[in-house]
Order: sequence, then C-alpha cells, then structure tokens
Amino acid sequence: MDFELTEEQRMFHDMARKFAEQEILPTLKENERQEKFDPGIIKKMASQGLLAPHMPKEYGGLGLDYITSAIIWEQLCGASLSVTQAAVSGPIQPATNLLDAGTEEQKKKYLPPVCKGESIMSGAVVEPTAGSDSSMIETVARRSGNRWIINGTKIFITNGEIADVVLFIAQTDKSKGLKGLASFIVERDTPGFSSTPLKGKISWRGGSEGTLRFTDMELPLENQVGEIGGALRDALRGIDTARLFLAAGAVGLAQSCLEASIKYAKERVQFGKPIGGHQLIQEIIAKMATKVDAARWLTYRAADLKSRGIRHIKEMSYAKYFSTEAALWIASQAVKIHGSFGTIDDYPVGHHYQDAITATILGGTAQMHQLTIGQQLLEMAAFR
Ligand SMILES: Cc1cc2nc3c(=O)[nH]c(=O)nc-3n(C[C@H](O)[C@H](O)[C@H](O)COP(=O)(O)OP(=O)(O)OC[C@H]3O[C@@H](n4cnc5c(N)ncnc54)[C@H](O)[C@@H]3O)c2cc1C
Repeated sequence: MDFELTEEQRMFHDMARKFAEQEILPTLKENERQEKFDPGIIKKMASQGLLAPHMPKEYGGLGLDYITSAIIWEQLCGASLSVTQAAVSGPIQPATNLLDAGTEEQKKKYLPPVCKGESIMSGAVVEPTAGSDSSMIETVARRSGNRWIINGTKIFITNGEIADVVLFIAQTDKSKGLKGLASFIVERDTPGFSSTPLKGKISWRGGSEGTLRFTDMELPLENQVGEIGGALRDALRGIDTARLFLAAGAVGLAQSCLEASIKYAKERVQFGKPIGGHQLIQEIIAKMATKVDAARWLTYRAADLKSRGIRHIKEMSYAKYFSTEAALWIASQAVKIHGSFGTIDDYPVGHHYQDAITATILGGTAQMHQLTIGQQLLEMAAFR
C-alpha cells in the first residue's frame, strides 16, 4: 500500500489546481450572482486534457485510472463543485453509460465530440414523479412501425437547456415495471424536443440544469441504446462514475474550506489574539481536517477498486455518502469560523456551503446510500 502520489498524479494535481485558479475562480462570483454557467469552460478544460480523463483514448479521453481522475476532479472542485460538475458531467455520466451499453456506431458518433468538448451531452433519468424511485418513470416510448414515439418530461437535468445530445430513459411497457425501461439517444434539433432552464436556485448557482419535454418526438429504431429492460442497470454504471466524481468533488470542496479557515483563523484577531489561538476554534479545525482526510481515503479506495474492476457497490456508497455529508458539515463550520464575512461571496466558503447541500442530493441521496450500504451488509433490501 503506497499513499504517495505518483509523478504523473502530481502533475495532473498541479495542472488541475492551476486551471481551477486561472479559469474557474476569476469569473465565479459574478456568474453565481447571475445563476450563470459559461459553457466555454468545457472547451478550455478539453484543451488541457482535463475534461474526460477516465474515458478511453480511442473515444477522446486520456485513458487514466480512476484515482488519477479523482485527483483531477478534487482539484477542479476546490474552486467550484457546481461549475466543474456542469463542465464534466457529459463525459462522466451519460458518456460512461453509452460506453458500456452503446453500439460501436453510437460510440464512434457521439463519444469523441463529447470528450473533446465539441458537443454537450446530458443524461436524463429523473422526472417530476420519479426521483430516487425509477420504477415511477412515466416518459412513454411507443413503438410505431420503424419509429419510437416519445412523450414525457425530465427535470433537474444537468445542462438540459444547452445539451446537443441527451441519453434518456423511457418506459416501453408499464406492465413490465423496471423491465420495461429502455434508453434512447436524441439530438436537440429533433422535432418534439424542447427545454427550459432551471432558475431560482438557492444552491449550485454556478451549475446548469434544465427541464426537458418530449412531445410526440419520433426517433428511428437505431436511437435505442442497449436492450429493453437493461436501462436502469446501464444507467447505474454511468451513475457509479458520477458518484466517484461527487465524492472527489466533495473532498476538494472540503479541502478548500479547511485551507480558507486555517488562513482566516491565523489572520482574524479577537480577544487579543488570532482566533486560531482559541481552543474551541482549534477543535473545529482538527475535526475538519480529520474528516477531509477520511473522506479522501474512502474516495481513493473506491476509485482504486473501480479501476481494478473489483465489485465496489458498498465502498462507492461509503465514499459518496461520507464525503458529501462531511463536506456539508465542514463548509458550515468554515462559514461560522469566518463569522459574518463567511456569509458574503467575497470569501470562498459561502459558495462552497451552498454547493455542499446539493452534493448530498444528486448521485443518490444520503438515505439512498445508507440503504445501499445496509442492503450490502444485511443482504436485505429496505427500499420499499
Ligand atoms: C444540481 C442537480 C443536478 C442534477 N442532474 C441530474 C441529471 O443530470 N440527470 C438526472 O436524471 N437527474 C439529475 N438530478 C436529479 C437528482 O438525481 C434527484 O434530485 C435525486 O435523485 C433525488 O430525487 P428527488 O429530488 O426526486 O428526491 P426524492 O427521491 O423524492 O426524495 C426526497 C427525500 O426522500 C428521501 N427518500 C426517498 N425514498 C426514501 C426511502 N425509501 N427511505 C428513506 N428516505 C427516502 C430522499 O433521500 C430525500 O431525502 C439533478 C439534481 C440536482 C439538484
């Protein structure tokens, strides 16, 4: 067991940190105030090889292992988890899903442009009535001759408003439940496809989400991805990578809060000395640092198992659940250490605090991961 970064990992760590400082931080405050995501960041990330580190080279990625990818995601999210998620979510969730379930023709057509930042791809599962419970999906796919006719709505879809391509799940036969679900791919200019942006967010303000509507949208049969009945299993492979990204991102967010808190605690003087010299502040800093370290190693362990193709359902849930909950606690303490200054956006801790709550929800809520861990340990499902 070696806890040191390799030379290559150190290089990607430094590259990603520099990118975050030079390309994400300067515009973050203004963009968050306007609830704006600038898609230009996607091409910039791609030009430095940071957009799709985990994807195979033949489809436009770097072919890196998942620990090195997690190190990159951690550093980018040290600037902003929501901006980074909007930038990399195409290569992470729907692209990984397509890589596993798509035909060679589908992969060659869609993956290289997404991994090179030339096309934006969304993955759409969630609906107004179907969140954690995908058996409630109501988007209907009806077969008519050599076409599929699609009707339905998808909500909270990352980049839903700007995506060029969407990989989505629909129900082909309600009587079959989950076994009736199938995946399809659609391009934005298809008649019957429309989208609206999500506004009024209290969190994730640097990100980008939208609502999709499919109205008598016709798709040729070759736009079906994978087999009928396998859609949820296929999607979960992409979601597994999204969970690793969120765990790593939460570590980056938490590390940034820790660094900002240490700096501030050394500078801010109250009661005749820097607040860091007060024992109660040191207790908080000590707890923050311990949780950051624990979250990081849970994340790297899950990444290592994933890279080696070893079953890691429980370990990925440990990482996603613990890291995002720890990040939320750490960010809330960081705001408190900054006092009133922590509540304005001149300091990084406020926007991290806002992002941290959302990180506990997407990619499976904390409860879903607790139930997954329980199911793995007890060999009993408690979902229903
Ligand atoms: C910023 C952002 C980006 C997103 N991007 C995407 C995307 O690209 N594609 C996509 O498809 N979706 C996306 N989502 C949606 C996200 O995946 C869902 O919000 C998430 O899965 C939870 O679903 P829900 O919000 O409907 O909550 P619900 O499932 O309705 O849950 C509500 C609450 O009930 C709890 N709960 C539910 N069932 C149980 C149970 N059995 N036991 C105990 N507690 C339970 C949950 O943990 C939660 O606390 C995104 C969401 C956000 C906020």
